Amino acid sequence: MVRKRWSGRESSRATVAAVSPTVDLGPFPDSDGYDDARTADSADPLAGFRDRFADDDPELIYLDGNSLGRLPLAAVSAVEHAVRTQWGSRLIRSWNERWWTLAQDVGGRIAPLIGATADEVIVADSTTVNLHKLAAAALTAQDGRDGVVTDDLNFPSDVHVLRSVATAAGGELTVVPSDGVHGPVEELIGALSDSTALLSLSATAFKSGYTYDLDRLTAAAHEAGALVLWDLSHAAGAVVVDLAGAGADLAVGCTYKFLNGGPGSPAYLFVRRGLQERLQNPIAGWWGDADPFEFGLDHVGAPGVSRFQTGTAPILSLVGAEAGIDVVADAGMEAIDRKGRALVARAEAQFEARLALLGMRWASPRDPARRGAHALLAHDDAWRICQALIEHGRVIPDFRAPDTIRLGFAPLTTSHVEVHTAIERLARVIESDAAAGYSADRSAVT
Ligand SMILES: *Cc1c(COP(=O)(O)O)cnc(C)c1O
Repeated sequence: MVRKRWSGRESSRATVAAVSPTVDLGPFPDSDGYDDARTADSADPLAGFRDRFADDDPELIYLDGNSLGRLPLAAVSAVEHAVRTQWGSRLIRSWNERWWTLAQDVGGRIAPLIGATADEVIVADSTTVNLHKLAAAALTAQDGRDGVVTDDLNFPSDVHVLRSVATAAGGELTVVPSDGVHGPVEELIGALSDSTALLSLSATAFKSGYTYDLDRLTAAAHEAGALVLWDLSHAAGAVVVDLAGAGADLAVGCTYKFLNGGPGSPAYLFVRRGLQERLQNPIAGWWGDADPFEFGLDHVGAPGVSRFQTGTAPILSLVGAEAGIDVVADAGMEAIDRKGRALVARAEAQFEARLALLGMRWASPRDPARRGAHALLAHDDAWRICQALIEHGRVIPDFRAPDTIRLGFAPLTTSHVEVHTAIERLARVIESDAAAGYSADRSAVT
């Protein structure tokens, strides 16, 4: 089987390299909404943050910050310092000078962004591995219960993990079906029973952007005697998350999306303070030991959230992630949340004006309270349109099989005029039939 990744943009380039663009890239000052977008940008308190990120191609509109955030300029100098000075000159002394506590330090910086305290969050491993650790720990702690409940909006990796963890515990995973856009809230609550050990959901769904009411679902899980584990990957850095306010037990998330941590940067995990001593790390390792430099052969979990570390932290990635997280912290989640919602609302209004007439469907929630900072558009010919949009329209979105285009609006780096221009370019790509030059066969490319 041919494995296809991302949007296939490299291969589409090869196909059409000789074709000159036929789509006007704008800006489109005479189009409806343009003046309003300009005004919104000039009043945007976050407008200056764009200068803190690398951008060598102003014509390109990058709407994929929810998959890989732009490069913060501070990450370049931080990683260079870590390589040249800390590794190159200080060598092993750097462990004591900075590296040994870096996973805790960066966890502490993420904490206020998700409504947690510094001693409840640690950076480690990938989101997938952290989800496994916390889900398995929760099932072990929930004596006599072995069921896990999630929904079909969840990310595949999460569903794989939850199923394997439930099966290993002798229980079952229930995947509650949705309509493909909205979280099946009532059905989820109805699926909780006295055998449910854990409810685990993506706070913001990776495709439609549906954003759960964390308070309500957490309370429902607790009422049924279950613990709750939120995946914040598409929520953190995009919308205000208040884990403490919701009374959430557990959470995981990645740092390379809206937190701008860089490709493959390590993930984080949250364990509510009152729960920390009750849970054991199922992937025990020396980094989560109470006294790793005793080199004892009997594992004693470190006090607090540190026990959920396993092995050596990826220092260079962590240094880059720290720079991205710092930029988010400087901007503040309230301002980021507000701008993200405004960008999605702008895309929605312009969708109605331009794209609804061209065979596109809005595949995200209409209720502003129930969405994140990305939106999903569906079209029968989405795959070819997506390729043409990247090549001719110079807009980078994500294609999501089988028939959707996902637009991510990173509040720190996406402007209102860019949203306006991107939708106008998309409309023109469809109107000009620029997609005709592309194969509809998705298996033909890798
Ligand atoms: C991006 C994402 C992941 C990524 O997991 P990795 O282990 O970093 O590959 C997991 N879950 C959700 C919900 C995501 O959006």
